[in-house]
Amino acid sequence: MKPNINYANLAESYLFSAVAKKAADYAAANPDKKVLKLSIGDVTLPLAPAVIAAMHEAVEEMGKKETFKGYGPEQGYPFLRESIKGYYARRGVTLNADEIFVSDGSKSDCGNILDIFAKENTVLVPDPVYPVYVDTNVMAGRKIVYAAATEENGFLPMPDENTNADIIYICSPNNPTGAAYTKEQLGKWVEYALRKNAVILYDAAYECFAEEGVARSIYEVEGAKKCAIELCSFSKTAGFTGTRCGYTVVPETLVYEGMSLRKMWLRRQTTKFNGVSYIVQKGAAAVFTEEGEKQIRENIDYYRENAKIIAACMEECGIPYTGGKNSPYIWLKCPNSKKSWEFFDDMLEKVQVVGTPGSGFGENGEGYFRLTAFGSRETTKEACARIVKWLKK
Ligand code: PLP
Repeated sequence: MKPNINYANLAESYLFSAVAKKAADYAAANPDKKVLKLSIGDVTLPLAPAVIAAMHEAVEEMGKKETFKGYGPEQGYPFLRESIKGYYARRGVTLNADEIFVSDGSKSDCGNILDIFAKENTVLVPDPVYPVYVDTNVMAGRKIVYAAATEENGFLPMPDENTNADIIYICSPNNPTGAAYTKEQLGKWVEYALRKNAVILYDAAYECFAEEGVARSIYEVEGAKKCAIELCSFSKTAGFTGTRCGYTVVPETLVYEGMSLRKMWLRRQTTKFNGVSYIVQKGAAAVFTEEGEKQIRENIDYYRENAKIIAACMEECGIPYTGGKNSPYIWLKCPNSKKSWEFFDDMLEKVQVVGTPGSGFGENGEGYFRLTAFGSRETTKEACARIVKWLKK
């Protein structure tokens, strides 16, 4: 047996494990100090009451012979696919339900979708970005080229005619920079992809944080259904990080060398995936009811307020940052030209606040740092008060 030697090309450990280990080691060595975490992008508010009620009902159904469900459709129950279709329709995007594939979350789909692309494709990934795009392609042995997201371009790289790519990742609103593309900017990417016969993998995991003037779906752009797959998740929208549900949209108009990507993805999913649990899908569908939407909006507003508190803290300290608006992340420039991990150690040591070093998201993230608004209000306020006390000029 020969192992997949591409794994030898991966960085030693996953970024968030490294952050968690450092924070845990510090806490163990300093039991008298209270460590505050604004690091991993995990939600802290519980599921909405409408979701819980729907899941309870579904549990009851599972306990009765007449309503018990065994294996469901691999691509998701029609009731959920229809609800997702309705969610898009309310935003002016028309989809067919059979273009929507329900999954156990976006992370799995990000990796699994690569099954339908040849190994020879060149992948274009923004730098910095969500590390899963890079790692999954390193595992597959694909050539990766980078689009630099820098202070100069507002962390929103635009297509470069001299770069050739077949698979293009776009994450907007972006993790980690919080920057978000307008419809016009995305239009340039769509034009580029169509010209290059490339496919865009559009990660909309944070679409619910997008405010006016910023796109929430790539399909708002004309022509996108001919070149883009959209991945989305209930994790940040509805607090499903531990419940697990997401969806991927593969329009039927995506045809390359005579092959329908929708049909290929259907074939892939029906072969390797057995669907998301009925109970979870019932809970996910409740997110789109009037009551559910209102409740999740309240939770999103809570995180938005946290983001404002962190942004105000940056302003007070005179630290340049992006995000906070359209995004639950604040991407800040490390003070005194510190490197990302240096600043991480410093902040942990001086004020016991944990964030995520920007360098973990790519080379261009060096010298930057990410704070998340997904913490509790109490933690956010206390962390900000400590940072202000420490760094205010
Ligand atoms: N995409 C981005 C950009 C993310 O930041 C995350 C999670 O943090 C995901 C996808 C994964 O989401 P899920 O919980 O649905 O796997």
